[in-house]
Amino acid sequence: MADTLHRVLRGMPKAELHIHIEGSLEPELIFALAQRNNVRLDYASVEDLRRAYAFTDLQSFLDIYYAGASVLITEQDFYDMTRAYLKRAHEDNVRHVEMFFDPQTHTARGIAFATVIDGISRALADARSEWGISGGLIMCFLRHLSEEEAFATLEQALPYRDRLLGVGLDSSERGHPPEKFARVFARCRELGLHLVAHAGEEGPPDYIRTALDLLKVERIDHGVRCLEDPELTRRVAKDGIALTVCPLSNIKLCVFDALHQHNMRALLDAGLKVTVNSDDPAYFGGYINDNFLQTFDALGLDAGHARQLARNSFSAAFLPASEKQKRLDEVDAYFAEAGLA
Ligand SMILES: [Zn+2]
Repeated sequence: MADTLHRVLRGMPKAELHIHIEGSLEPELIFALAQRNNVRLDYASVEDLRRAYAFTDLQSFLDIYYAGASVLITEQDFYDMTRAYLKRAHEDNVRHVEMFFDPQTHTARGIAFATVIDGISRALADARSEWGISGGLIMCFLRHLSEEEAFATLEQALPYRDRLLGVGLDSSERGHPPEKFARVFARCRELGLHLVAHAGEEGPPDYIRTALDLLKVERIDHGVRCLEDPELTRRVAKDGIALTVCPLSNIKLCVFDALHQHNMRALLDAGLKVTVNSDDPAYFGGYINDNFLQTFDALGLDAGHARQLARNSFSAAFLPASEKQKRLDEVDAYFAEAGLA
């Protein structure tokens, strides 16, 4: 039975809506790019670097994450990183990806915005033609930086407006509430960009409320602390606001002590539109199917949950209505074929 469920989870069509492309850099690729670009790393070997992935909280992860990203210099580097993730996503039967990228991590090091976005977009275009994976880019502002820096980044992005699906907000949540970026998000909204934000991961449920009210986001990234506030939970459920949950990330960053204590089942039971995602798969011990398999095992979820989560992933995506329906039909056909509809 577990084997059947695992096969279903692996094979089902799915969308990934919470993946930081810089967080898909595997230690092997970090070392290969460091060598190619003559970048000195503070780690002696791939194993040494992997050993450093024992995080205690979000900040301890971010410190290594930014060090890892320092090996990305050329357009080809950004292409290779994105390509490696998309190949892995294709193997996990991901049909649609909405990918975060952090331009400020790179422009602060003197890398041109064009270098970053050109490399990532080229890999996305190749994945579409080779594997039929649709996708888009969500540009994230680093919330530990200032509003002024966010506006400057938006300015740099304007020539590439057509390549952006939306904008998001990531990095250190505590002490950097959503309202810090209310004006930036208002401007992005005028530009017709979709809006999302990380909230309620380490930060309090109130950050979810202010992200909705002041930033006017359409999805909440993480949002697992929503359940601490029953009124907020009812509102998020009623309005069909999706939460892009990342179970393995939550364990690695100590949001929950163990996977069997994760609130995924409670979020589903509360009627919330939950999705499963990998966040920073190279750092958190797994890609999207690892997240599905381990979470289902730990919480005893079943095929009905699998179908719901697969449907949620497309229903929460920023896809045109006809495209969305096509993907949802694929999910239904897959489960009907498996005799699980
Ligand atoms: Zn994230």
